[in-house]
Amino acid sequence: MKAHDGMYIGGEWRAAAGTDTIAVVDPADEQVIAHVPAGIAEDVDAAVFAAHEAFPAWAATPPAERASRIAALRDVLVARKDEIAETVTAELGAPLQFSQMVHAGVPILVAGSYAELAASYAFEEKVGNSTVYAEPVGVVGAITPWNYPLHQIVAKVAPALAAGCTVVLKPAEDTPLTAQLFAEAVYEAGIPAGVFNLVTGLGTVAGQALAAHPGVDLVSFTGSTAVGKQIGATAGAAVKRVALELGGKSANVILPSADLAKAVGVGIANVMGNSGQTCSAWTRMLVHTSQYDEAVTLAAEAAAKYGDRIGPLVNAKQHARVRGYIEKGVAEGARLVAGGPEAPRERGYFVSPTVFADVTPEMTIAQEEIFGPVVSIIRYEDEDEALRIANGTVYGLAGAVWAADDAEAVAFARRMDTGQVDINGGRFNPLAPFGGYKQSGVGRELGAHGLSEYLQTKSLQF
Ligand code: NAD
Repeated sequence: MKAHDGMYIGGEWRAAAGTDTIAVVDPADEQVIAHVPAGIAEDVDAAVFAAHEAFPAWAATPPAERASRIAALRDVLVARKDEIAETVTAELGAPLQFSQMVHAGVPILVAGSYAELAASYAFEEKVGNSTVYAEPVGVVGAITPWNYPLHQIVAKVAPALAAGCTVVLKPAEDTPLTAQLFAEAVYEAGIPAGVFNLVTGLGTVAGQALAAHPGVDLVSFTGSTAVGKQIGATAGAAVKRVALELGGKSANVILPSADLAKAVGVGIANVMGNSGQTCSAWTRMLVHTSQYDEAVTLAAEAAAKYGDRIGPLVNAKQHARVRGYIEKGVAEGARLVAGGPEAPRERGYFVSPTVFADVTPEMTIAQEEIFGPVVSIIRYEDEDEALRIANGTVYGLAGAVWAADDAEAVAFARRMDTGQVDINGGRFNPLAPFGGYKQSGVGRELGAHGLSEYLQTKSLQF
């Protein structure tokens, strides 16, 4: 695979300050496919400096002009979508069709939505005798994970640029090639030098240097709750803005009136897509006791059908971690009805689609984020119990509710402590705010809510 051996800083590929590199591995066959430079504090300094230099002119660029640059970026992503899909498949392992539809397709939608929002957003409003201006926060340090490598970059960079901010991105160690491709797209789109900068490297070195950098005005982080807590503490100590998109353990609540087969089928597909490596995946399926046995049979069949269509997990560490959780589920008394801890292939970090029945709400597999293709089916006796279970984790990122009519599902969803709920299989909306309640995070991404994260207000009184 093609890789750059430098950092994209100030509109050009510059030699890295250090000599260490990171190996990029194809998780489907465990082969090294490329190396990228491991950035150090000097690289981060140079990138933040470039972002600072570029900020005044970009912030002063009329929103319509910023919008047309973001539209040009969207057009480059469209032109290069096959290459994007192949790159994501090579370094993340997602099946090519999923990469085409989701990993390449969704960022195009999101970039397009910000091209429109940048042009139409009210950056100025009258409030009584005041004029309130929405101004860009400044230099953004963006730190992203590997599970939706391009989506998570675009969900930060597009609104930041729309707001008039400049950005330094530190992408995940496992998926830097997608980030390098994005930097090429930024260049091709004619976005001015220094407005977007890329430093590849380790989280504990380059990521930490970026989060703590005094020249960064806002840190936008997507990743694990453990790292998010550290970043939040660092940002808090510096009175710096921070947005955190963290983990999840979302509930798929199937009310007794629902179309059970559909709810179970969509629920299994929701988790198995991207091999379960989706923060908002509905990994806990809550089923009324009267339908429990039928739901377990349907879920086991749906998971078995996935079989070979599932991609590998991203790396050896995640592979060991997920298999460890499956063993823990067995040890704690849950009943395996599909899949299991054995590796289904000799090579590659594959895990079989796995379904557990007889899971109780306090079990480890029902409380902790597994980040693999594992669904836990939990029984409830009545709606109040279903709600207690649904709300009974430290997380609150997403969820689903199924019922005979939307109104019944909405009434339940309004009582859930979570940021997004799909009602009877509602479709993905790139304009809907995405983000967590409780330990799933702080702040929102996507749409106008995502744009406002990168703005601060100034009011002038007359
Ligand atoms: P991670 O927290 O280990 O890493 C995320 C990013 O942070 C990477 O770029 C990493 O290099 C960097 N990083 C690691 N340690 C750092 C440090 N000390 N300082 C600064 N940066 C550091 O998470 P991961 O394993 O890459 O991703 C999986 C996690 O991300 C899951 O828990 C998942 O739920 C979460 N996630 C959340 C969302 C969301 O929107 N809420 C979306 C996707 C993933």
